[in-house]
Amino acid sequence: MYPLAEVIVDVPTMQTDQPFTYLIPENLQSLVKKGMRVEVPFGNGNRHIQGFVVGLSETTTLDPRLKSLIRVLDIAPVLNEELLALADYMKETTYAFKITCLQTMLPSVMKAEYKKTILLLDEKSVAADYFPANGELDYDEAQKNGVLPQLMKLRQEKLVDIRYEVHNKNRVKTIRMVNSLMTEDKVAQIRDTLRKGALRKAQLLEILAQQKEALPVKYFTELGITTAHLNQGAKDGWLELFETETYRDPFAEHEFETTTNFVLNEEQAAAVAKILAAYQQQKAQTFLLEGITGSGKTEVYLQAIQQVLADNKTAMMLVPEIALTPQMVERFKSRLGDAVAVLHSGLSKGERYDEWRKIERGEAQVVVGARSAIFAPLENIGLIIVDEEHEATYKQEEAPRYHARDLAIWRSRYHHCPIVLGSATPSLESRARAQKNVYTLLPLNQRANPNAQLPTVEIVDLKDEYSQGNMTSFSKSLQEKMRDRLAKGEQIVLLLNRRGYSSFMMCRHCGYVLDCPNCDISLTLHMDTKTMRCHYCGHEEKIPQKCPECGSKKISYYGTGTQKVEAELKELLPTARILRMDVDTTRKKGAHEKILTAFGEKKADILLGTQMIAKGLDFPDITLVGVLNADTALNLPDFRSSERTFQLLTQVSGRAGRGQKTGEVVIQTFNPEHYAIALTKSQDYERFYHQEMKMRHEAGYPPYYFTVKLTVSHETERQAAQKSFQLARQLQTALSPTALLLGPTPSAIMRIKNRYYYQIIIKYKHEPALKPLLAQILTESQIDQRKGLYVSIDNEPLNFI
Ligand code: ADP
Ligand code: ZN
Ligand code: ZN
Repeated sequence: MYPLAEVIVDVPTMQTDQPFTYLIPENLQSLVKKGMRVEVPFGNGNRHIQGFVVGLSETTTLDPRLKSLIRVLDIAPVLNEELLALADYMKETTYAFKITCLQTMLPSVMKAEYKKTILLLDEKSVAADYFPANGELDYDEAQKNGVLPQLMKLRQEKLVDIRYEVHNKNRVKTIRMVNSLMTEDKVAQIRDTLRKGALRKAQLLEILAQQKEALPVKYFTELGITTAHLNQGAKDGWLELFETETYRDPFAEHEFETTTNFVLNEEQAAAVAKILAAYQQQKAQTFLLEGITGSGKTEVYLQAIQQVLADNKTAMMLVPEIALTPQMVERFKSRLGDAVAVLHSGLSKGERYDEWRKIERGEAQVVVGARSAIFAPLENIGLIIVDEEHEATYKQEEAPRYHARDLAIWRSRYHHCPIVLGSATPSLESRARAQKNVYTLLPLNQRANPNAQLPTVEIVDLKDEYSQGNMTSFSKSLQEKMRDRLAKGEQIVLLLNRRGYSSFMMCRHCGYVLDCPNCDISLTLHMDTKTMRCHYCGHEEKIPQKCPECGSKKISYYGTGTQKVEAELKELLPTARILRMDVDTTRKKGAHEKILTAFGEKKADILLGTQMIAKGLDFPDITLVGVLNADTALNLPDFRSSERTFQLLTQVSGRAGRGQKTGEVVIQTFNPEHYAIALTKSQDYERFYHQEMKMRHEAGYPPYYFTVKLTVSHETERQAAQKSFQLARQLQTALSPTALLLGPTPSAIMRIKNRYYYQIIIKYKHEPALKPLLAQILTESQIDQRKGLYVSIDNEPLNFI
């Protein structure tokens, strides 16, 4: 019998989804497992490349053409059975290459190779025979010498261990007594050898004599015991210095006060009960927790998770981008304690790797994380939560273009456990599924804090302000209210909407926005060509000099920056203390949290920021929220612009009046009658949902239609265009007449880094031929890749531009 490994290789020029078969040499046979990374020879030149073992098999006849594995890169599988199956699902649904899916699932530091050293733990055991005097062996060296299988067996007997070094930083120098079971007599003997007056050394000796565990060097240096003292002790032979692996804990310096459960209100209790009923029955039921802002969704998550943990099961909670919601981490850690591992992009690579290791080793029972945390190697899952399920950041914008919500649902099926999608403003897709009872709707219609009321919302028409000569960013009403809050010592949040910033033309006199004559969508300004263009049908026209509607010359692109607004604000309210939160002030790690903490501690009166302030803020003294420009997102050439505008305005309005004092919201807009803005006045998601569904139905958009976007790119515009037209013809012939093709048209930013992009959007209801066709297009595109022509497929794209 010859053992074989099926390997998905990482070949950038000719990516392939078929595994290649390699022979496993005898000395590696006990080491290779499914889900490990290996090094294999590839191609004629016998280049060495990496790959993932996705299967093991045996054969009786040896094919002489088979090549052998060179090296095993991992000690244990980095992907378990579940994650390997998830990679298959992801490949099927996102039209990505298999290797891309596999690589996406690992934390980024693992993509770079890390160094592994085998350590001798007991020098008196048989294991010592394998080691040089210092008791350390290089892992690769051991593999080459063929002794690795034996050492791995000794590892199971705990005679040796393996140290991983990632970025060489997860090691701390520690000290302990040479013999931790030292008798008092022996300690007294050593004490006698110390010079009189060697107080520090005596102190060091006493500490070590009482302490069986190793202590970090830092502990001693803080007591004034220097490294010279330590080294001397080591030289004299009564202490030893060595390095141990530690977790880099991003929250090490942070104290979490423990909090206790709230008594749930009726709606919350009903929601928890239904979730737990599904959990008890091991039902992969999908719940949509639709709760107004401040209705206590988090409390529902926490209490449901507690029950799951009590059964020794685990739970996973996804949040849009945790860096934006330090308060959420706080709430989880303070309630659930050390069981919580946190994964998000705000952590250093090393920290993220360490959190991943904790999960992999079963030391964390709850994972809280942003999009890619969906790949956490958590086992035995009893509950999955996707908070703010409508957020676009759950979708990855590069291959594999997965939506974390879909993968979360897949994992809930795998574990036969319920999943909760939570939002105050669910995506139309999810809400429509709840309508059809595919998902179970759990409504929370009251604010959880019994004293907190929904804020009152005033909508200000900026056209009136301009016509009355107010050219500032602040309407009269907002100015008045800000002065009032400053006098009362209450806090203010101001949102400057950056989405769609200055990309569209609007008349300041009549509010007219330049749209495409063929589509219900505004035209996008292209500064490079000085034209207005439609991204759906390709229509193009010159930038107008005057308003086509009223003839006014006050037509311009609309938008303003946070810095400019801050300056304006200082002039208007010279005594106000202002904090600004935007990309510029939050570039540094932890800057976000600092700003929010300062605001929470009332070190400022006004928090001025972009979208990032809309979520998660839960401060009782915010009694006024101002939205300076509600329309910008509304004018984006994307059918979801109304949905996004309504979501943003509802979210940010929800920051007001969460404590005892009632909140007020002022929304400034040029389109006060637009339903996405008008309906925020009553915070009426349900009405918005019904109205928006009508629009989607009439215009033929999701959730009534499915969508796919194909993008073609090349160095020359001609080739990109040609290929996209060829694909369009191919699609047209294969699909039924009910499928609609939009395009080909140049993409919103047609040229990026000197490449030209063309796109096609397909809208369809039922096209059995589509999936195989797209898979075929993707496979065939590999040939074009050699000519520098790339085709990418985005299933259910969230961005149409
Ligand atoms: P959401 O996530 O739905 O916007 P939160 O979970 O932030 O709402 O809850 C809003 C506030 O109400 C928080 O300060 C929370 O501590 C509080 N809260 C939650 N549940 C209860 C309850 N049952 N009784 C009293 N206060 C509660
Ligand atoms: Zn006009
Ligand atoms: Zn158009």
